[in-house]
Amino acid sequence: MANTSATGKPFNSKPDQAKIHAERQRGWRTLRRVSPFLWPDDQPWVKRRVVLSLALLLIAKLIIVGTPFLYKNAVDAIAGESSDPGWLLAVGTTGLVIAFGMARLMSVLFEELRNVIFSRVGQRALRVLARETISHVHRLSLRYHISRKTGSLNRVIERGVKGVDFLLRFILFNIGPLILELLLISLILIVVFDIWYLAVVVSIVTLYVAFTTRVTEWRVRIRREMNDQDKDANQKAIDSLLNFETVKYFGAEQREADRYDRAMAGYETASLRTISSLGMLNAGQSAILNTGLVLALLLAARDVMSGELTVGGFVMVNAYMMQVMMPLNYLGYVYREIRQSLVDMGEMFDLLGQPAEITDKPDAPDLQVTGGRIQLDNVHFSYEPDRPILQGINLTLEAGQTLAIVGPSGSGKSTIGRLLFRFYDVQQGCLKIDGQDVRDVSQDSLHASIGVVPQDTVLFNDTIYYNIAYGRPDASREEVETAAKAARIHDFINDLPNGYDTTVGERGLKLSGGEKQRVGIARTLLKNPPILLLDEATSALDSQTERDIQESLKAMGQGRSVLTIAHRLSTVVDADQILVLQQGKIAERGTHSELLQQAGLYAQMWQHQLDAPGVSSSAIRYTPDRNRDND
Ligand code: ATP
Repeated sequence: MANTSATGKPFNSKPDQAKIHAERQRGWRTLRRVSPFLWPDDQPWVKRRVVLSLALLLIAKLIIVGTPFLYKNAVDAIAGESSDPGWLLAVGTTGLVIAFGMARLMSVLFEELRNVIFSRVGQRALRVLARETISHVHRLSLRYHISRKTGSLNRVIERGVKGVDFLLRFILFNIGPLILELLLISLILIVVFDIWYLAVVVSIVTLYVAFTTRVTEWRVRIRREMNDQDKDANQKAIDSLLNFETVKYFGAEQREADRYDRAMAGYETASLRTISSLGMLNAGQSAILNTGLVLALLLAARDVMSGELTVGGFVMVNAYMMQVMMPLNYLGYVYREIRQSLVDMGEMFDLLGQPAEITDKPDAPDLQVTGGRIQLDNVHFSYEPDRPILQGINLTLEAGQTLAIVGPSGSGKSTIGRLLFRFYDVQQGCLKIDGQDVRDVSQDSLHASIGVVPQDTVLFNDTIYYNIAYGRPDASREEVETAAKAARIHDFINDLPNGYDTTVGERGLKLSGGEKQRVGIARTLLKNPPILLLDEATSALDSQTERDIQESLKAMGQGRSVLTIAHRLSTVVDADQILVLQQGKIAERGTHSELLQQAGLYAQMWQHQLDAPGVSSSAIRYTPDRNRDND
């Protein structure tokens, strides 16, 4: 075997050694995380099943190791090397052959039984970890989710949890039992035969293990490359499918196919390398094992010729060599798979180890909303260090009032909403609800107190009913329908052939923008929170529906604090206070009429809106003219 890898690098160059070391550390960490699933303190049923499975395994192994004795005696009897009378020989031989068959059958039955008994332990561990991972991923910050690719995240979880059952099963049932079996066979070889047989077995086992582990380590790295390529290709496919319409608008089907194909080409090369290296591994293993078999049989043939061994003895040597080879063959596979599982699970545990950016303080109390007064004190915030977005925002939304934030696109309006919901933490200053800093209270209580109707409502690929009821899963059908009526969507739903059971398609794409938004409003109405955050909540509606919805939003806002983020000034004229945000700073503040009197930016925006030709004032969006308005 050449001492270079398929990637052209020597097997054991310095950087590779460092990588191997790091990988081993990761492997041990993964094993430490997984092994408690085999012996959990609080689940005695798992312990019982593990013990029972091990007992069954031991019985199966003892039977397996004993069968060659039966085999030998049967062969000797048939070969006439026994001095017993003929009838006894016939009965004895038949009995031995049947016993041999039974023993083999029993060993298989015990193994299968063990599998059935153990499966629940493995599957339960898989489920627990899968749940833990998905919960953790939900806890990770918006920043993480925006930069991370959903498709590849999904793959990491999928592959990782699959590895769990495998790993548990093989730690318990392969490595340990294999060592036990090899020890028993070695003992028999030395007692029944002589030291040379043992020498052959020990040499091939040592050689085999050394070869297998070394080549497998190298293959694992190739395999990891393949995983990366696989993730990449998968991500490209998902991205182009999510952008289905955009791809069509730009006639980019060919371009997308080419992009995917390039990623797949990488995968193709990596998997070819995996396959050819597997061929090499298998060939090498087979050469070692068969050399061992030939050597042992040569020894046995010599002993038969010298009369030290019967024909049955020869057959028994063959049987034991086969018994050594079988699990060893399996060992190669098991080692490969364990290493692979460790790689896959390592990625998953990396994910689990990823710290959540926004965390609750220890024993954070729940937010107590007494009126819903919101206060921002000198808030500074930037998504990226060198690009400030909010620069010293001060605002107070009195309990039960409505505060509207308007201003040019990109001025940071939605960012204020994200900070209030604590998707991010402020870098300077603070944000308080009824005197409590949002960073000091539990996120669960904060989220429960704020109802958000976002700029772009995204729905679950389920029924309309499910999507509205998402606001409060324990709501009755009547309450769901009342919310739908208030959001002016009930009649539309009733006119659909399947009514509330209509499915909305992925991300809700089977509904129009306005319909989606009304479903979004209905589910927030159902949630019934003391604070409302409306981010362009009526942007996708025609003027009539908008007026209707405005009324229902107004009704919903009664007695609640409402923070409205809007482009269309018509939707905010009634607000108790309007802030004009420009380049992350508050440029103006006041009521609608006060702001008009100031004759500043707001007044210009209002005029601009009224002047727009042929469009009703409520339907127009303000488009900022940055050159003119920068003051
Ligand atoms: P619009 O009216 O167009 O929705 P907005 O005033 O609500 O705009 P924000 O969404 O608050 O604007 O964004 C403010 C600025 O922050 C924008 O320039 C945007 O590019 C930037 N920004 C928003 N989200 C991120 C993010 N996750 N990472 C980096 N920059 C971001």
